[in-house]
Amino acid sequence: MKTILITGGVRGIGKSIAEKFLKKGYRVCVTYSKDESSASATAALGIETYHADVSNELAVQELFEKIGDVDVLVNNAGISLIKQIQDVDYAEFQKVMSVNVGGAFLCSKAAVKKMLDKKSGLIVNVSSVWGEVGGSCESVYSASKAALLGFTKALAKELGYSGIRVNSVSPGVIDTPMNAHFTKEDLALIKEEIPMRRLGYGEDVANAVAYLEENDYVTGIDLPVNGGFSIV
Ligand code: NAD
Repeated sequence: MKTILITGGVRGIGKSIAEKFLKKGYRVCVTYSKDESSASATAALGIETYHADVSNELAVQELFEKIGDVDVLVNNAGISLIKQIQDVDYAEFQKVMSVNVGGAFLCSKAAVKKMLDKKSGLIVNVSSVWGEVGGSCESVYSASKAALLGFTKALAKELGYSGIRVNSVSPGVIDTPMNAHFTKEDLALIKEEIPMRRLGYGEDVANAVAYLEENDYVTGIDLPVNGGFSIV
């Protein structure tokens, strides 16, 4: 049985990916940072849940010791920051970078060590439309997600000959707890900007990750999942 590890997988996009791969017959492991009640509900589905802060090197090492080898790693855990740059302090910048980029680095490093032995594996980084085109009042978040796009391409080049593929998905506006702060009016305005006139669902992103898992010759790409939001 193949193993997939999805960071931040007890709610939102990560949980949809977990459910998709459970149906595909995978052993599914997820991490979470807080969300104890979501973790219990996720565990009840037959998904292994692990409390681990992905920005903490020791916690990531311990996590991989508990889980063992992974065939697929989805670096999904992420935090947003919506502020104008003059109001962002350096500690906030560092926090976003350490979770969104540092977490992907630490988990990829731990997973790749074992993938190299097997000469196979897949890493999917969850970036964002803002990583592709930049979001006003989200400069730090956008920078962290753009970093993941560069990380994806560089790792794909570095690991391709070892049989390890690395890709990213870039969701647009997805209906998850991360966007719970938007009012009805905000959401109506956002939908007006999206050619498909709807928010995305976690399942839309999960389907994109499944596409990347099923296509053995696809590496180094970014797959936008945004209803046409980033069409120029
Ligand atoms: P969410 O807030 O619902 O879920 C994020 C998950 O990450 C949670 O389970 C949380 O526990 C976990 N997490 C946060 N910090 C962590 C840490 N330090 N260690 C371990 N886990 C941690 O968000 P979501 O909307 O499901 O977003 C998932 C990913 O998709 C994020 O990387 C986000 O940036 C990205 N994304 C989301 C959207 C969107 O519109 N929702 C759009 C583009 C990209």
